[in-house]
Order: sequence, then structure tokens, then C-alpha cells
Amino acid sequence: MHQVPRTDQIELADAIAEGARRRPSQAFGEYFSDQGGSCALGAAYEGAYALPQEAGSIRPRLDRLFDCLENVRRKCPEGCNKRLPLNAIILHLNDDHHWTREMIVSWLRK
Ligand SMILES: [Zn+2]
Repeated sequence: MHQVPRTDQIELADAIAEGARRRPSQAFGEYFSDQGGSCALGAAYEGAYALPQEAGSIRPRLDRLFDCLENVRRKCPEGCNKRLPLNAIILHLNDDHHWTREMIVSWLRK
């Protein structure tokens, strides 16, 4: 397993925040709900595409975003002893602990 730069996680937090602004209602158990909401990971994907891009292609940013989702493992901050890749922990916090996307964003920025 390789080291993932810390900045990638901050960028992921920015993507979730941007996605949450686009869809103010939160979804649980699905990326996007029929009511127009998104869960934290849905917001991350949508926000990553929506964020203003630096010069160059969008690809490097998304590759790094997904790299961080798959290769960073975190312990559940609620203390339930789960240790999972970031994408699974984000879904777990969203669906099982009903964290708001804003709570997940500030946890990622810590
Ligand atoms: Zn948990």
C-alpha cells in the first residue's frame, strides 16, 4: 500500500461540500435519491466534476480522488471498531450513523 497525500483528502472534502451545495437534501442507502438528494459519496462524485478545474484535464484530479477513496483506510470515528477504506467508511457514516455530509466534510478536513 502506498502513501496517499493528505491534500487528496482535503480535495475530497471540498468535493463533498460542493456536491452537498448542489443537492441540499441528503440521501441514505443510495448515491442519489428520487427526491433529488445525494449521499456523501454521491456528493463527492458530483462535486468532483463540478469543482473549478486548474489548467489541464479533469482526469488527474479524479484519479487522485478515487485513489484516496480506495487506498486510505480509516477507523470509524464513532468507535464501532470498523476499519475500512475511505469510500466504505463514508457510506457507513452516512447510512449507519446518519452523519450529515457537512459532518463528514469536517471529519475529513481534520
Ligand atoms: Zn461506525
